Amino acid sequence: DQWAAAVAAVRSAGPDDEIQLICHVNPDGDALGSMLGFGLGLRRLGFTRVRATFPGDFVVPDPYREIPGVDLLVPESDAFAEPRLILVFDVASESRLGALAARVADAPASVVLDHHASNTGFGGVQLVDPRAAATSVVADGLLSRLGVPLDAEIAECLYIALATDTGSFKFDMTTVSVHELAARLIATGIRPGEISRRIFDSKPFGAMKLTGEVIGRAVLEPSAAAGRGMVWTYATLADLERHGQPPYVLDALIDPVRSVAEADVSMVVKQVAPGEWSVSLRSKGAVDVSGVAVSQGGGGHRLAAGFTGYGEASDVVDTVRRLLDEHLN
Ligand code: 5GP
Ligand code: MN
Ligand code: MN
Repeated sequence: DQWAAAVAAVRSAGPDDEIQLICHVNPDGDALGSMLGFGLGLRRLGFTRVRATFPGDFVVPDPYREIPGVDLLVPESDAFAEPRLILVFDVASESRLGALAARVADAPASVVLDHHASNTGFGGVQLVDPRAAATSVVADGLLSRLGVPLDAEIAECLYIALATDTGSFKFDMTTVSVHELAARLIATGIRPGEISRRIFDSKPFGAMKLTGEVIGRAVLEPSAAAGRGMVWTYATLADLERHGQPPYVLDALIDPVRSVAEADVSMVVKQVAPGEWSVSLRSKGAVDVSGVAVSQGGGGHRLAAGFTGYGEASDVVDTVRRLLDEHLN
């Protein structure tokens, strides 16, 4: 089966072979946590040449600067050019790998660990479980099959990943097995309160002021397709500049926006360049927002998805409005 194939792929590498780990562009807690936790596991197995990277600007969000295994991280330009083995984490499609996609295709062995329903099936061995709450669930499955015992450092990485993708154990994917994994991780001695404060509750004052402004301009509109309604807002590069904040602070904005009771679909449109927007979509159940995202070249899950939109922010909102109406018909 796929687990055996993945174990064989890892064992096909010798202790001094180059192993490259890759996660998606603009990495989140699951991407970094599953990748670095697994990287630490490879070290425990005696692999000496392990590097981790992600495509694009080498920005590690402040909350993850002290994550265990962060020393494995290198900029894309320092990734191994021709690694013996590549492992890919939390990546639904090659488009999320940028220029590194070619390296996955060319590697003698590759394993993709993921949990997106929209996963396109790229790479050598696919460990893709759409029922998994986070890629770290899959990473834990492979680590245990490789005989790597959980220690506190690995556990902290996997816990950060799990807590991030379940919205701190609030979302629908939060099953018995999620809590069982969390229990095994906490049993290594990690401190969930301390970790949560560091990851979720340590934002600069400027980020709060920026959030206030962007939330302040949110629009609630009726939508037949989105049940009770749709709530959306947008943020520009000028907003970031004014508050001296990096782009990743905008990724947390979807959480207050999605909490609006009168809306079943929520959206944050985040400018990444002139005429280019990163769109976060959330649904409370009736609408499959991954369908909307995939139709725009993006991806994600039924209740959480995203894509890149072009033009003005209002063009992006118009597109989503139209797609939701088409979905109704
Ligand atoms: P978020 O809104 O938190 O950035 O992303 C929500 C979900 O949608 C995540 O599972 C993420 O992987 C996926 N996603 C977000 N943006 C994109 C995109 O541009 N392309 C693809 N394929 N998936 C995306
Ligand atoms: Mn992710
Ligand atoms: Mn994930």
